[in-house]
Amino acid sequence: MRTIICANCEYDLTGLPNDAPCPECASTLREERRTLDQHRRLVVALVVVLTLAFLASIAWLLLVLTIP
Ligand SMILES: [Zn+2]
Repeated sequence: MRTIICANCEYDLTGLPNDAPCPECASTLREERRTLDQHRRLVVALVVVLTLAFLASIAWLLLVLTIP
């Protein structure tokens, strides 16, 4: 999900027309933020790392248990 914010005062402009000035400071400069996307990517990376660590520990355990 994209968030549009005012580049001047960081007012949330999401949902406003693209050429509408900021209601807070009347600036027409805007920035896009993808905070949710970044957050989701971080969560996915974390899940992948944890899954790999889990699988590695299972493999290590099996290795240790099967070696007499
Ligand atoms: Zn503003």
